[in-house]
Amino acid sequence: MTSVQHNYQQVLSELRRAEAAAGRPEDSVCLVAVSKTHPVELIRQVYEAGCRDFGENYIQEWYEKTEILADLPDIVWHVIGDVQSNKTKYVAERAHWVHTVSRLKIAQRLSNQRPESMPPLQVCIEVNIAAEPDKHGVAPEEAVALALEVAKLPNLKVRGLMCVAKADSDDESLREQFGTMQKLLADMNAAGIPADVLSMGMSADMAVAVSCGATHVRIGSAIFGSRHYGEQA
Ligand SMILES: *Cc1c(COP(=O)(O)O)cnc(C)c1O
Repeated sequence: MTSVQHNYQQVLSELRRAEAAAGRPEDSVCLVAVSKTHPVELIRQVYEAGCRDFGENYIQEWYEKTEILADLPDIVWHVIGDVQSNKTKYVAERAHWVHTVSRLKIAQRLSNQRPESMPPLQVCIEVNIAAEPDKHGVAPEEAVALALEVAKLPNLKVRGLMCVAKADSDDESLREQFGTMQKLLADMNAAGIPADVLSMGMSADMAVAVSCGATHVRIGSAIFGSRHYGEQA
């Protein structure tokens, strides 16, 4: 077993423990392995260990990886970084999920450019949960209104909400942030959107996120190790 395969198994056991501790069914949380800045060889290793869901932030880097990994037909690509309008076509044609929709204009382009031969693109509305000026996402009070607009687009399917918790939050603050996300999902349901996804929880806050109802955790460094941004293409 390679070191990333070992890490992947370790994180998977931790996730199963967190599910049990939260009284949630085994396998109810999807582990998305965040492979940004890491080479395709390591993605292949984690895939061989059983992972199918991978998250990437940088569209150019991700697209090049999809070309090289085209022989893995059941890999599921989650775009978890900001999508700018000049990159929507790549995403519409090759992604399964976009967790980071926060502008209607980008959602419209994704829907227009989604090939008719493909199933709808699964999307989450990104919420700037702690109102941090340097973070993407809509304000919590704007999330349902945006979801209602995005839900009208024919080639997208609104699945839920995504957030990145404020760095270095203590558990109490994390519970407050993730709890607001749970409440917003209930608000979306009450507004008539049958959404069921909460994409929240990263290497540092996975267990708390699971205890607050996360359905997708996005784990990078705990699987792949630290990132070296300077080496990125
Ligand atoms: C990088 C990244 C992650 C993974 O973060 P780790 O702390 O390495 O687990 C998750 N979500 C988003 C949006 C990211 O950019």
